[in-house]
Amino acid sequence: MLLPVTTDPRHRGHPDGCPYQEQRRRLLGEIEDEVRKTREYLGTDTLDPRVMSALGSIPRHEFVPEGSRHLAYENSPLPIGHGQTISQPYIVAVMTHLLEIRPDDAILEIGTGCGYQTAVLAELARSVYSIEYVPELARDAAARLARLGYRNIELRTGDGSLGWPEAAPFDGIIVTAAAQRVPLALVAQLKAGRRMVLPIGRAREEQELSIVVGGQRGPVVARPILPVAFVPLKGG
Ligand code: SAH
Repeated sequence: MLLPVTTDPRHRGHPDGCPYQEQRRRLLGEIEDEVRKTREYLGTDTLDPRVMSALGSIPRHEFVPEGSRHLAYENSPLPIGHGQTISQPYIVAVMTHLLEIRPDDAILEIGTGCGYQTAVLAELARSVYSIEYVPELARDAAARLARLGYRNIELRTGDGSLGWPEAAPFDGIIVTAAAQRVPLALVAQLKAGRRMVLPIGRAREEQELSIVVGGQRGPVVARPILPVAFVPLKGG
């Protein structure tokens, strides 16, 4: 397990470990409130404590543009350039919870963006493979995650809807951009009985955060969980 807060040299030696620790604690409280408010959708009123503790340890301010650092611990999405966003912390928490990650898992992520969700996954899984379409975002995320000390993440630039066949099958797949249908190439790379979590729907219209279970026979059935708003999945 990796500890990005203590591996960031700027935080070493600070009396609190990190000047943002209090803000992160407050954010966890807001996520817990939001989970309780949406318990009917989620079927639970608490998330996996391991997910919450990962969010409590990751320096989100390192993942947002310099000018937005004061907003880094608000429970809201933020623009990161190239028309893309860093997801709302509550959504990151819910999606990670729904993946049901085990410590020995290999997880595939589509849509690295700034790499925040990638870092959360890397705290909980053995290895994370993440694909980003926009080369500049992929390059920045790679530099950021290396600087924060992550060694169990592999990044690639390209169309993630095709998956990462050489590293398949995966114990979990997370898609952080909205597809109009379930990408079948990804279903084929998911282990039987394990989960893919993804938003399904058109951009700027109603989308449903959904779960697909691997190894389904016949047509792929996606179980809708929660209405969400994501940027569209590009490419195939
Ligand atoms: N996971 C990010 C959210 C990223 S927003 C976070 O933690 O905040 C969605 C990202 O998906 C964008 O960076 C976008 O460029 C990327 N994306 C969209 N379509 C893609 C595709 N087909 N393959 C890989 N990445 C894609």
